[in-house]
Amino acid sequence: MKPLLEVKNLKKHFPTKGTSLFSRNKDMVKAVDGITFTVKAGETLGLVGESGCGKSTAGRSILKLTEPTEGQLIYKGEDITAFRGERMRKLRQEMQLIFQDPYASLNPRKTIEQIITEPMKIFQMEKAARKQKLDRLLDVVGLSSYHKSRYPHEFSGGQRQRIGIARSLALDPELVICDEPVSALDVSIQAQVINLLEELQEEFKLTYIFIAHDLSVIHHISDRVAVMYLGELVEVGEAAEVYKSPKHPYTQALLSAVPKANPHQEKERIILKGDLPSPANPPKGCKFHTRCPFAEAICRSEKPTMKQVSLTGQMAACHFAKEVVN
Ligand code: SF4
Repeated sequence: MKPLLEVKNLKKHFPTKGTSLFSRNKDMVKAVDGITFTVKAGETLGLVGESGCGKSTAGRSILKLTEPTEGQLIYKGEDITAFRGERMRKLRQEMQLIFQDPYASLNPRKTIEQIITEPMKIFQMEKAARKQKLDRLLDVVGLSSYHKSRYPHEFSGGQRQRIGIARSLALDPELVICDEPVSALDVSIQAQVINLLEELQEEFKLTYIFIAHDLSVIHHISDRVAVMYLGELVEVGEAAEVYKSPKHPYTQALLSAVPKANPHQEKERIILKGDLPSPANPPKGCKFHTRCPFAEAICRSEKPTMKQVSLTGQMAACHFAKEVVN
């Protein structure tokens, strides 16, 4: 079966501050620097990495909310890379975004009814159908009909995120990019919103790209995981497999920092040296070499390529990960 979405060598580079768009030798921030992955219909792909690794920019580039610098996007077998204007606008019905910040993403001057039905109006849905859809959406996200005349400031953070989710489902999308949808919420509310997203996925047959920096959240919701570092993917695989047996030193370090449910279970914490380097001036060779505890001379000069590291298709980009051939 063909994947729902194929992302091939996607890049998004921004000129650094003070660099003219028209100058020849532009200094570029390589926010996304050549990522390749697929998403199957009905699955959740977790995109994880530290803040500033480029995962949100990747999500927005896939939806073409920011135009990719390079690469190819194939959706349902069709190359949509060159889609612009009306063609892209139509396609956006099928591809939606849930924002990170439920406070900033809702217009404070609009009622909940206006916010949720706005996309339906843009796509000229009949008034009666809009009303019916609104009631249904409020119901499925756990809000009541009387909430529709209220304004965003009258709701808690968790309720606002439910409103944002209802708005993103207004046009019956197939692919939803969830950009850190729970990171601005209290821990007690996070689980409720994650459970809601899982229920909605089941009910509406949704496909998710779930972006987060929290590995516990990603583990809970994802079928497959893609780990991102400085604009590149360093490991991709089935979530259960990556969490049980991470092959890239960066994934190993991230996972070693996740608290274990059993406090008596021993684990060795891998402490990463220094901060994430600037994407405007990334290290040569393996971008992770300045922080990697296993770096050797080759890592400073040669960029590792993705290779298969398990029989089930787990991939990692490290010179020392053992290649496995089916
Ligand atoms: Fe570490 Fe070298 Fe592997 Fe990069 S290639 S992750 S620096 S061991």
